[in-house]
Amino acid sequence: MNKLTRYLTLCLLAALVCLQPGAAQNQPAPKRPNIVFIMSDDHAAHAISAYSGRLNKTPNIDRLAKEGMKFENAFATNSICTPSRAAILTGKYAHLNGVPVFNHIDNSQPMLQKYLQQAGYYTGMIGKWHLGGNRGKEGEPTGFDYWNILPGQGAYFDPMMIEMGERKKLTGYTTDIITDLAIQFIEKRPQDKPFFLMYHHKAPHRNWQPDEKHRKQFENYDPPIPATFDDDYKGKSDAARQSTMHIDADLNDNDLKMKPPAGLTGAELKRWKFRRYMQDYLACVQAVDDNVGRFLDWLDKNGLAENTIVIYTSDQGFFLGEHNFYDKRFMYEEALRMPFLIRWPEKIKPGSVSKGMILNVDFAPTLLDAAGVKTPADMQGRSFLPLLEGRTPPGWRTAMYYRYYHPGHHNVAAHYGIRTDRYKLIYFNKLDQWELYDLRKDPREMRNVYSDPAYAKIVEGLKKELQRLKKEMKDDDQFANELPKDDVG
Ligand code: CA
Repeated sequence: MNKLTRYLTLCLLAALVCLQPGAAQNQPAPKRPNIVFIMSDDHAAHAISAYSGRLNKTPNIDRLAKEGMKFENAFATNSICTPSRAAILTGKYAHLNGVPVFNHIDNSQPMLQKYLQQAGYYTGMIGKWHLGGNRGKEGEPTGFDYWNILPGQGAYFDPMMIEMGERKKLTGYTTDIITDLAIQFIEKRPQDKPFFLMYHHKAPHRNWQPDEKHRKQFENYDPPIPATFDDDYKGKSDAARQSTMHIDADLNDNDLKMKPPAGLTGAELKRWKFRRYMQDYLACVQAVDDNVGRFLDWLDKNGLAENTIVIYTSDQGFFLGEHNFYDKRFMYEEALRMPFLIRWPEKIKPGSVSKGMILNVDFAPTLLDAAGVKTPADMQGRSFLPLLEGRTPPGWRTAMYYRYYHPGHHNVAAHYGIRTDRYKLIYFNKLDQWELYDLRKDPREMRNVYSDPAYAKIVEGLKKELQRLKKEMKDDDQFANELPKDDVG
């Protein structure tokens, strides 16, 4: 063998070795991304400037839109705190995960964090849990290597927290504290595993207590009045009228934290209350934005920005004076829509926007998919990973099913319904009343066209589709007849 032949033979042998099936096992596995799921409580998309610059500026949260993707049609399947959290963790609707109201979760069931933990992730839960942490073992987080949560709703200042079962009182502003703890979790993590962190703010939940810095920033703030502020509910069902979440009638002294100036009545008093509400709400949001900025800067400084998926969302939307409302619950747009921003440099083109319809039950399948874990068969959501890469998978949903059960707070009548890309049909089942909105012609939902003969065919089609979706989601109404008791504080 001459030199050249010997060289070629060696090359051939080397190539054959590389082609052996076992050889791939010696290659390092592709690096799985870390995942940080930032969720605030009751933060409406329209109080984030990436969605709408009308009310405030949130430059830090906006970074995730600039450097990642903004979802314009992310919806909650039940627009209320505890049920949305359960839907996120289980990938299932309330009638299957057992959390339709403010009741604790059966924490023995499979959940997102348990699957990730089994797949080798180091898992953590910091901040607002609100699935029964106040109930000891029965409702505390499971499937987390480390957890440190607020009991129930938690306090805005000097909060009591429960660290791995042990109650500890901390000093400071809760939004800052939760961020400190989130950073500490990552600092102390084992270096040989990817991490999954749920970093959950309490803010800007009612009764909106800002810290001094942000309170001052907004103390003279005069918010623009929403176009639907004086909705008189003409043509709507009785639900809006009989609810108790009205800016004028229902914001109380505890919400407003000061007495209205003497002599204010009627429309003037309503506007004064709205101003007070927005001043505190937006000041709480501003502290969240500052802290998200601090957290993102910390990821940058520690070389973690590239291989970490960062999400910002809220457990549902919120009314900021629209239809004379505060709070959420109704299937109307402002409450139904969740903000959802996601940065993942490896997969997502900076500054991209998706109009794909995604639901809170999709979050678990998507994050599992990102971690290389197949969607468990009993999850009802679907991974939207392809949407992150700019592809809409065949058969992606064009309609979603919604159901609100809660009979108590704010007296919002139970309802369920369907939202498509153009229409929304809502059935207030206890009242036996319907509402239909043509979102293209009436995006603010001011004109109920359910009884308009021009929409008769649309109503017929939507009712069929609603029944189909309800059945597909395995909701047979039985569950709604025996609701559990509120017990999570
Ligand atoms: Ca909430």
